[in-house]
Amino acid sequence: MSETASLPLHATARANAVLSALRVQLGDKISTNASVCDAHSHGEALPVANMPVGVVFAETSEDVSATLRLCHEHRVPVVAFGAGTSVEGHVTPPDGGISLDLSRMARVLEVNQADLDCRVQAGVTRQSLNAFLRDTGLFFPVDPGGEATLGGMCATRASGTAAVKYGTIKENVLGLTVVLANGEIIQTGGRVRKSSTGYDLTSLFVGSEGTLGIITEVQLRLHGQPEQLSAAVCQFENLDDAVNTAVEIIQMGIPIARVELLDDVQMDACIRYSDLNEYRALTTLFFEFSGSPEAVKEQIAVTETLALDNIGLGFAWADSADERARLWKARHNAFWAIKAQHPGMRLISTDCIVPISQLTALISGVKDDIQKSGLYAAILGHVGDGNFHTIIVTEETDQGYQQALDLDRKIVARALALGGSCSGEHGVGLGKLEFLAAEHGEGALSVMRALKATLDPHNILNPGKLLPEGPVYAG
Ligand SMILES: Cc1cc2nc3c(=O)[nH]c(=O)nc-3n(C[C@H](O)[C@H](O)[C@H](O)COP(=O)(O)OP(=O)(O)OC[C@H]3O[C@@H](n4cnc5c(N)ncnc54)[C@H](O)[C@@H]3O)c2cc1C
Repeated sequence: MSETASLPLHATARANAVLSALRVQLGDKISTNASVCDAHSHGEALPVANMPVGVVFAETSEDVSATLRLCHEHRVPVVAFGAGTSVEGHVTPPDGGISLDLSRMARVLEVNQADLDCRVQAGVTRQSLNAFLRDTGLFFPVDPGGEATLGGMCATRASGTAAVKYGTIKENVLGLTVVLANGEIIQTGGRVRKSSTGYDLTSLFVGSEGTLGIITEVQLRLHGQPEQLSAAVCQFENLDDAVNTAVEIIQMGIPIARVELLDDVQMDACIRYSDLNEYRALTTLFFEFSGSPEAVKEQIAVTETLALDNIGLGFAWADSADERARLWKARHNAFWAIKAQHPGMRLISTDCIVPISQLTALISGVKDDIQKSGLYAAILGHVGDGNFHTIIVTEETDQGYQQALDLDRKIVARALALGGSCSGEHGVGLGKLEFLAAEHGEGALSVMRALKATLDPHNILNPGKLLPEGPVYAG
């Protein structure tokens, strides 16, 4: 990774004192090994890295509590670390900070088949949860591309390809166990599908990026495996025609399970990386339909008509489980497909979202911006939600990064002007800080700063992330 800043001695000394004290209690759950620290110095994509002084591998909520209690007392910054797949500099520790790794908290604690819910430790990954559920007839639908942890997904308010049908992580979390900055352990929410009592603390912690508390357990909604699944691919000569098809599907209320767009550049990379040789390097929509056989048939008929009316080049079907898996694996590997074509280059993954009616205007404007920038960049997205990413390839230099940032700023400005958000799912971290005032306004940011100051008065939890500095809370 890029340059590692030298640590201010006083902060480092305090962190070392905390680690020494913790060693008595946590023993070999603590590491100061250089390669372990390096692996915790950064996430994906954004070229920022700072070495933590040490890494605590928590195995229980009590381990997390003991760590936070001491860090709170000695004013040592703590950054929670799930799988490190976040892309906006979220997990980069500040100078003198400790990385608190939750990946060893990887047990599924209970599955309540009759109520379609489960409780997991924060370090369980979405893939391992679904492997655990395989024989129950249930599954968990939220699927960010990386092998993310459920704690990290809650912290970033993640979503993925299935949000158009099942919602984001926010709609699928019922309750949490959270360790507060001072080490106190609290429960939020519960197991019921709804409750009208008290402030909604679960929603407050979901999306808080480790700045308000550390999530150690998650109560999740589960869903029944659909009776029938069917997938299809349709290619288009024209980008706008593909986007219009996706928009019309949503506007007509077709309960589609997934609709994903890959532009010509992204499709070209996927064909090479995932051997999708039967397709052409054209803008492509990947569809999935689910439900009863009759419902699936009906969804397919309407979708096919819409696509062909928008000059789609015909439907290719993937009805076997293997063929569907091959297609969706190729979609999930889209980022790595671009990376494989550009060894030694940096990839920046942008993320924006607009109301669905504005999506065609936004994507065609962004395609223009890309062409004018002279950069190689691919568009792919969860277009059924109005959400998409631009993967920008750039040199591993400051200048290259600035060029990518200039393009990202143009994309965000377009999205905000169309009533959108600078991130539909990746979150703020460091990368999106500069856009928050324009998106939320100073009044809303002041309320957020006041909440932060109440829950984390010494600003030890992931300081410098999510909230730009401001007048109410200066850190
Ligand atoms: C190829 C690729 C594709 C991706 N596709 C998607 C996508 O489709 N949709 C999407 O939403 N995201 C996507 N992402 C981004 C990423 O996978 C998500 O942000 C994911 O939710 C991060 O989970 P994690 O376990 O890796 O968290 P980390 O990266 O480890 O942490 C993310 C943030 O959460 C905090 N955190 C982690 N664990 C906890 C905890 N237990 N308690 C409190 N705070 C915590 C961290 O401090 C940090 O601020 C993609 C990333 C990659 C590399």
